[in-house]
Amino acid sequence: MITLYVLGSGSRGNCCAVECEGVAVLIDAGFSIREVERRAASVGLDLGLAAGMVLTHEHGDHSCGAAGLSRKLRIPVLTAQGTWTRLATRLAATEHRLLGLCSHVELGPFIVEACPTSHDAFDPLAVAVRIADGTSVGVAYDLGRATTAVRYLLSNLTAIVLESNHDEVQLRTSQYPPVVQRRIAGSGGHLSNRAAAQLLGELHHPGLSVVVLAHLSQQCNSASDARGAVAPALRRAGFRGTLHVADQDVPLPPIRVAQTAAIQLGLGL
Ligand SMILES: [Zn+2]
Ligand SMILES: [Zn+2]
Repeated sequence: MITLYVLGSGSRGNCCAVECEGVAVLIDAGFSIREVERRAASVGLDLGLAAGMVLTHEHGDHSCGAAGLSRKLRIPVLTAQGTWTRLATRLAATEHRLLGLCSHVELGPFIVEACPTSHDAFDPLAVAVRIADGTSVGVAYDLGRATTAVRYLLSNLTAIVLESNHDEVQLRTSQYPPVVQRRIAGSGGHLSNRAAAQLLGELHHPGLSVVVLAHLSQQCNSASDARGAVAPALRRAGFRGTLHVADQDVPLPPIRVAQTAAIQLGLGL
């Protein structure tokens, strides 16, 4: 079983972690060290268990605490070469483990895999972690669109943390200037509720037991709008698991991720 911690998600900071058998892997550190520590403590995540930190891309809402936290915890940073190069001076004292399409990393019980995403960053990644019995968690946010590689990475996972950034109508009628609206809605920007719903409907399989909607826009979305867009699509696909919506300011309670009986018996595949 994997325990998934979503410490916060949105344009003001993102940080998740997975834990299994006393080993944790952080995924992004877009808050200050103190804030990550405060949030982790509030949901019972022991940062002393961390064996590594995945960094999806260099934008501050994913990376601002990464250098300090990886140094303090003495853990390697797993990231694409371009992201590492971009942050080289900040991460100079940190060990780098290369993560990418052909470079998975083993950390304790976890195998960490990744693929490139379509986003206006230097070398952005979506990530999936897996343990020996097949239980797996994917994290994909800051997606302009879901590429074939992302769809492949997210297929057959037990849990998916997926961006559901904005309501398309709210974005079009927002105060954002047209150039910003085009950037958010474009292929280098962020996934809308409608696109997330469609993608999750396509990705659904009998073993999918947890979905977390993440990176919601504060201006052009709400938890109820995101849930309202995605829940019907998941229901139509036959989803019987739990649907969560990540919050910017408050961590979600720990989420237990385990394979369903059907999958364990090989009936769902
Ligand atoms: Zn972001
Ligand atoms: Zn970004």
